[in-house]
Amino acid sequence: MKAPFVLSIDQGTTGTRAVVYDASGAPAGSAYQEFRQYFPRPGWVEHDPREIWAGVLAVTRRALARAKISSSRLAAIGVTNQRETSILWDKETGKPAGRAVVWQDRRTAGACAALKNSGAEKEVRLKTGLVLDPYFSGTKIQWLLKHAPGLKKRAREGKILFGTVDSWLLWNLTGGRRHVTDFTNASRTLLLNIKTGLWDPDLLRLFGVPRAMLPDVMDSGARFGETAAQGPLLKGIPVVAVLGDQQAALYGQGCCREGEVKNTYGTGCFILLNLGPRFRRPPPGLLATLACDRDGKKVFALEGSIFIAGAAIQWLRDGLKFFRQASRSEAMARSVPDSGGVVVIPALTGLGSPYWEPLARGMITGLTRGTRQEHIARATLESIAHQTADVLERMESAGVRKVRELKVDGGATANRFLMQFQADLLGIPVRVSAVAESTAWGAAKLAGKIAGIWAEPDKIDRRRKYRLFRPHMSRPAAQALRAVWKREMARLLGSGPSAANREF
Ligand code: ADP
Repeated sequence: MKAPFVLSIDQGTTGTRAVVYDASGAPAGSAYQEFRQYFPRPGWVEHDPREIWAGVLAVTRRALARAKISSSRLAAIGVTNQRETSILWDKETGKPAGRAVVWQDRRTAGACAALKNSGAEKEVRLKTGLVLDPYFSGTKIQWLLKHAPGLKKRAREGKILFGTVDSWLLWNLTGGRRHVTDFTNASRTLLLNIKTGLWDPDLLRLFGVPRAMLPDVMDSGARFGETAAQGPLLKGIPVVAVLGDQQAALYGQGCCREGEVKNTYGTGCFILLNLGPRFRRPPPGLLATLACDRDGKKVFALEGSIFIAGAAIQWLRDGLKFFRQASRSEAMARSVPDSGGVVVIPALTGLGSPYWEPLARGMITGLTRGTRQEHIARATLESIAHQTADVLERMESAGVRKVRELKVDGGATANRFLMQFQADLLGIPVRVSAVAESTAWGAAKLAGKIAGIWAEPDKIDRRRKYRLFRPHMSRPAAQALRAVWKREMARLLGSGPSAANREF
């Protein structure tokens, strides 16, 4: 038999990537394409589910062509996806009932506030590990069902289906045969009891979501279905791994044991710490969520979701016109010895972990007549590291063992100034993944493991080179910087429309 290949489909927020890996775990061909973002009103973000599916087929075709293989050589497919984004579609025709409501969409801020006022948050937090924020699927589904006539009735009759992006892709990949999801994606909906792993009847009632429209929940490593003949994909290729993007990055980074932690520096920063198979209550401001062990079985994780990280650099580039390329931020930051007392808090879409202030706005303080672009650029990069430190400190306050090394990936890890500053601030080494695409690799790694192509995929990773940044700054110097950041953060939290940094 000819050597097998594994296809990873990574359906992200702004683009879709397909990577074909050979039996040694090396990428043999890949393709990426962006797709359209719809902003019909301020704070609203939508995708067209049909464009998402068309994009998946297009990048898959190109990745296979670049690997110079036909899909008959694929032994397994792994899928990873933007999380929380919610899609409804017609079970008979497969037609989407409108556009997808994307995780960044804030339209349900009012619905979340109303639920909080009704005192529902405690139960929600206890069962789901999440907070009542528009970020998650629950209020998005509620909104979608309310805003088209007759939809709720048809959902109750099982004629309208709900899915996060993984479910939508699985439905299409299998030619409408399978309506399923995995634990990691289900744990982001506000509807799953993460301890039992079951859809929770009380939560379904709270959000007004009929059970009949929900997919079945499976382990992340399992036989999700087989492809129907679709575009470049022949019939019968098994889909055996499905994970939300951040959980895929955690798996791709090899953080399968308790206490291991990774941070992905992309648009936002997402820090996940593997908690193992025993549930522990998350500390205030952090999320409990589901991830998977080596074999794709359910484990618990602590998560800190920071909404704006690399996107702050995009804002310096596109909004403030500081430079034309994000990578220029590094030279700018290095051209000054420090930020000159400037602090940037990039709360450009409210604040996520550990503050959860959807109405917070960004802030630049410490300006003098001597302040230059370079100081602001440096302070913006530093803010990414400070937000990460805020989350890690909260994790450690919950009694988890001190993190001894931070594994990192994502686009902004190309910035060596940022990586060194992160190591300095935390006082621990920061280890940059050798695999640029930890997310895509995570899905492929699990798919290949389930399909029996590689028994110990971590061995493949151990052969790869990585970059290590060791801390050089003295602890008192780092603590002084942290104190200034915390003082300014307290000021921001105290000045906003909702002043209280609520404890959940
Ligand atoms: P995502 O998957 O969220 O789209 P990526 O992992 O592709 O994100 O990373 C892109 C982000 O990283 C962008 O927000 C960009 O501004 C930021 N970025 C890329 N290169 C650099 C750099 N050299 N320095 C700082 N930020 C960078």
